[in-house]
Amino acid sequence: SAPEDSDRLVQGTSNDAAISRESAARLGYIADPFIQHFVRHPQRRAPLINRGTFTRFQGVQKTLRQFLRYTSQNQQQHQTQNQVVILGSGLDTSYFLLAKDNIRAKRYFEIDFAEINAKKAATIYKKPDMRRLLPADTKVAAGGCELHSEEYCLLSGDLRLFAQDIVPRLLEHGFDTSAPTLFVSECVLIYLDPQHSDSIIDWITESVANAAILTYEQILPSDRFGQMMIENLRARGLELRGLMAYPSLESTRDRFLSRGWVSAAAIDLSDYHKKAIPQSELSRLARIEFLDEWEEFSLLAKHYAFTLAHTTHSKSFASIKLI
Ligand code: SAM
Repeated sequence: SAPEDSDRLVQGTSNDAAISRESAARLGYIADPFIQHFVRHPQRRAPLINRGTFTRFQGVQKTLRQFLRYTSQNQQQHQTQNQVVILGSGLDTSYFLLAKDNIRAKRYFEIDFAEINAKKAATIYKKPDMRRLLPADTKVAAGGCELHSEEYCLLSGDLRLFAQDIVPRLLEHGFDTSAPTLFVSECVLIYLDPQHSDSIIDWITESVANAAILTYEQILPSDRFGQMMIENLRARGLELRGLMAYPSLESTRDRFLSRGWVSAAAIDLSDYHKKAIPQSELSRLARIEFLDEWEEFSLLAKHYAFTLAHTTHSKSFASIKLI
């Protein structure tokens, strides 16, 4: 039926993300030894796409590491637990990148459709470099679509049924609503109807006192580049359902403030690239691949934004910043 077809197309976007990430990893922009395991037909992306992938990767990895560092310090003092929830995790390898560096959350959840998770779980088990990083108590569940352990859970479900379906599963697997928690949505909430993404955001504000959320999503649908972006996706049957409700940098930030979050900041990828990437890194990247389309890069990068919002004024959370 039609809705199922559109779900399948959305699931397919996890492959695009993995192909871009593999391209950036193979060329040396980013260090991700695991992503190659998920890409059967590698493609070399254009320099400006690789630059964008690098910048997106930096923002997400830096925030994850900051969160785990500050909340682990706190953990020793107050014996709290920290949690990470990746919404629409796709073929994201962050859990393994952190584990490889011995950085672990008390609990780390990844949520996506069963179809994607089945592929992910099978690959993790097939590849010794990933499998060895799984907690010793990991069990395959739900016919191969889930992984369960005390620390790491890959859970399958539909984010549109968050409160009804996903939350009970999180709780069943040890999610603690009083623990400091980072939620991440990398190109995920934007695919949901705003009523569904808003209800996820509302559940977090109402239920998790110490939460932060990092989103990385498309913005600016109305200018020429934005329309091109939308048409390209539409030609593939994909729709950015959240884009009209939250079209600008300000609106992606204000959506959190108006829904009861205590602080929120947003920055587009172009500014993030200018302000957050150190000169030494920029020189290293210039040696990998020459990028002369700076205008094009900035045009592209203006259409993607990070938002970081908090439900708490607590000091360890305030130290987690985008730049
Ligand atoms: N976050 C990953 C990354 O950055 O590599 C994947 C991004 S991919 C563009 C979007 C992901 O969101 C897909 O894996 C898709 O299956 C998932 N997704 C979209 N809508 C979903 C829903 N209603 N329930 C569960 N997962 C969903």
